[in-house]
Amino acid sequence: MTADFRHFYQKDWAERTAIVTQAAQLTSVETALFKQYYVPKHHDIIENYLTDYPLPMGLAVNFIINDQPYIVPMVTEEPSVIAAASNGAKIVKRGGGFQTTATKREMIGQIVLEQLTDPTATAALIEEQAARLLTVADKAHPSLKQRGGGARQLRVRQLGQGYLSVDLYVDVQAAMGANMLNTMLEAVAKAIGVLTKTNPLMSILSNYATASLVTAKCELPVALLQAGRYDGQLVAQKIAAASAVAQLDVYRATTHNKGIMNGIDAVAIATGNDWRAIESGAHAYAARDGQYRGLSTWTTDGTTLTGQLTLPMPVGVVGGSIKINELAQLNHKLLGNPTAPELAQVIAAVGLAQNLAALRALVTTGIQQGHMHLQLKSLALAAGATPAELPVILQQLEQATHQDLVTTQQLIAKLRQ
Ligand code: NDP
Repeated sequence: MTADFRHFYQKDWAERTAIVTQAAQLTSVETALFKQYYVPKHHDIIENYLTDYPLPMGLAVNFIINDQPYIVPMVTEEPSVIAAASNGAKIVKRGGGFQTTATKREMIGQIVLEQLTDPTATAALIEEQAARLLTVADKAHPSLKQRGGGARQLRVRQLGQGYLSVDLYVDVQAAMGANMLNTMLEAVAKAIGVLTKTNPLMSILSNYATASLVTAKCELPVALLQAGRYDGQLVAQKIAAASAVAQLDVYRATTHNKGIMNGIDAVAIATGNDWRAIESGAHAYAARDGQYRGLSTWTTDGTTLTGQLTLPMPVGVVGGSIKINELAQLNHKLLGNPTAPELAQVIAAVGLAQNLAALRALVTTGIQQGHMHLQLKSLALAAGATPAELPVILQQLEQATHQDLVTTQQLIAKLRQ
């Protein structure tokens, strides 16, 4: 009998789990997992809720940002990310820590008009009414203005082929602002529809958050970069060279930025922020001059290594799921309850620390030496090793010709004989 998923969203939790159990022929042990991670109030967060999906959470340490110490909660499933962030931060701490800055924090939303026969005249009409339209925006979400935020600017861009984008800039205060902005945009779209006698195609936040940029910087005496037999000045030169390659080559730039996002996403998730919004904005910003490039740059004069990372960071400390998620709230507390701009700057510093650690490993011992030990640990656990067996299995795996699941299972079986 095939399971019936019709009106699945209307079923209660017990009915849903029963349907899935039948459809996927789950064992009682598998079905019990739904119960194990079930949080009733999470029905209010997503649709068709079944259970929670746990990810490991840890702390990155050693962060000094604008002379303040931070412990940084990170949620990630990837081994070595937290170790690398802490390691990068430790090196930077010895050089005085990170300096960070943020531009004014505004989010941008778009109202797109289509099929315009005279886009220039329509643009002029809208620009003439800009002040009134900003008032319409504020009236759609008045509490924002009461908090000191609100609509700030209207910009009209001709996109070609009869399309026009009306960009609304809003100071979203402590929130990420997507929903608030969308409410304001829809009100402004209605007013623009009446004004221009057109039907706007759509109104939605843009994730290209170029009015919410953050920058993290660090300056390190090259001696701090010494790694094994590699002298610090040489390591600095090689890091600068690796950075230059990420400016030239999209294959390298993509991986360079993935390493940065390892840290950024982990803090975004830990603080209840929308990491897809951050990801999409970051990658668009990486391609802002038409070529996709590394988001960070590293340069050296032979004495100092200077690193800099700038990217959009649309994060909030209220709104979205933050208030519903107790761990997200706890993580804000671990970070010292930062304001939204402070959180954005901490996240940028984590990205730069992550990048430094990865580049230093890459241009010296290679990424695998540090990384593989942690990967092997994951492999051993996946193969069923108990914590007590781990030290022996890891030692044997490091010497094994093949470091794969079958080999690991064989080693565990042999140990248990
Ligand atoms: P919310 O819809 O939760 O709105 C923010 C809330 O925070 C409001 O209820 C506001 O209260 C309250 N608030 C309390 N204090 C403050 C303060 N000091 N400053 C600002 N707001 C305050 O969240 P957002 O509008 O931030 O939207 C973020 C969510 O939208 C995320 O979950 C995201 O995933 C999602 N989203 C993302 C999109 C995208 O990225 N393209 C598109 C659509 C949604 P009050 O109402 O009284 O002002």
